[in-house]
Amino acid sequence: MSNISRRTFNKRLTQGIAGTALFTGMPIACGMGAGQQERKLGVALVGLGSYSAGQLAPALVSAEHCYLAGIVTGTPLKEKQWMEQYDIPKESVYNYENFDDIAKNDTIDIVYVVLPNSMHAEFCIRAAKAGKHVICEKPMAVSVLECDAIIEACNTAGVKLSVGYRMQSDPYTDEIKRMVREKSFGNVQYVSSDAGYISRSNPDQWRLNKALSGGGALLNMGVYSIQSNIYGVGKNPISVSAQEFSTRPEYFKDTDESITAQMQFPNGAAGHLFTSHNANANRLFVSFEKGWAELNPCHSYGPLAGRTSDGKQIKFPHRSQQMLQMDDFAKHIKTGSTNFAPGEMGKRDMIICEAIYQSIKEGGKTIPLDLGDMGIVS
Ligand code: NAD
Repeated sequence: MSNISRRTFNKRLTQGIAGTALFTGMPIACGMGAGQQERKLGVALVGLGSYSAGQLAPALVSAEHCYLAGIVTGTPLKEKQWMEQYDIPKESVYNYENFDDIAKNDTIDIVYVVLPNSMHAEFCIRAAKAGKHVICEKPMAVSVLECDAIIEACNTAGVKLSVGYRMQSDPYTDEIKRMVREKSFGNVQYVSSDAGYISRSNPDQWRLNKALSGGGALLNMGVYSIQSNIYGVGKNPISVSAQEFSTRPEYFKDTDESITAQMQFPNGAAGHLFTSHNANANRLFVSFEKGWAELNPCHSYGPLAGRTSDGKQIKFPHRSQQMLQMDDFAKHIKTGSTNFAPGEMGKRDMIICEAIYQSIKEGGKTIPLDLGDMGIVS
């Protein structure tokens, strides 16, 4: 029972853990026996900033298939508070230096990397090398090369990889996908998605520092617009062109403020996206041959809202997207069910981001994309 304290042992038992995996310390893999599928998987959050504290940790309290088993933080002051609040044993608390020791901790099945974007690749790769399944926050990394390195590390280690695309587990997204698939109003001809907010706080924050963020609005909010453009058409784009706007260069010194992009899809549909750190925007509009569907708000944590051209509301009971997302990934690990946000999806979006930046650099030139079905999960 190495590295499992009496307290953790008892906690996991009350969480429905099946005995055998515990006693053997077996790695969790697909094709588990029925008993092992019952147990909750342990998640370690790496980086205890606002998203971990405000969304992920609370979601893990109510999740059915996973729970908060460990933390990795560079801020010693946070350790005690998190240990008390979430009943985390001392032996499941790590810092960035001793993080690799997590390999020896059988209570941690999944490492969830919630750090500034330029740190994703390093910590995802270290997590994979430690034999842990990986969730990587969006954007997956700051370059396609880094996405490839993460995917390769996970494949080599034989662990599962997912990107923190919470909307891929949200019923509103499913409903748009269903309408597109079933051609509820005919074929999609145009999709438009906007995602942004007004940033005025601390100009030294990491999101405005390219070395840490890899880019501005596009890598932060723009990935939501890319995601919803793609699920709003049901296909990957075949080309993209883009423009950048800057109205507050004194604040956005290092990163993009606002970007618009146009995408062409293989079925002839046109896509438009707007993303900004200087405008509030939170909407998806899908125009079919004989009607339309809209999610507004679309990209926030919910409750979301939607409607269609025939006067109907799109409405689902509000549930934490983060809880649904982490439960879906835990189920994927336990049973081999669908991974709704695989690494290839994160890499695909990074290919599109790089093409958008290239287009801007080349004065709005159309950049061809050769993505096939890469990252499409319906
Ligand atoms: P944050 O600034 O609130 O937290 C960042 C954490 O990283 C902090 O705990 C900080 O101490 C730590 N850190 C380590 N090294 C750092 C460094 N050199 N500079 C700054 N911080 C450092 O950020 P956040 O909002 O929690 O975002 C973290 C990640 O989560 C980002 O990749 C972001 O894109 C992603 N995110 C995703 C969603 C979503 O809806 N999926 C929402 C918010 C954030």
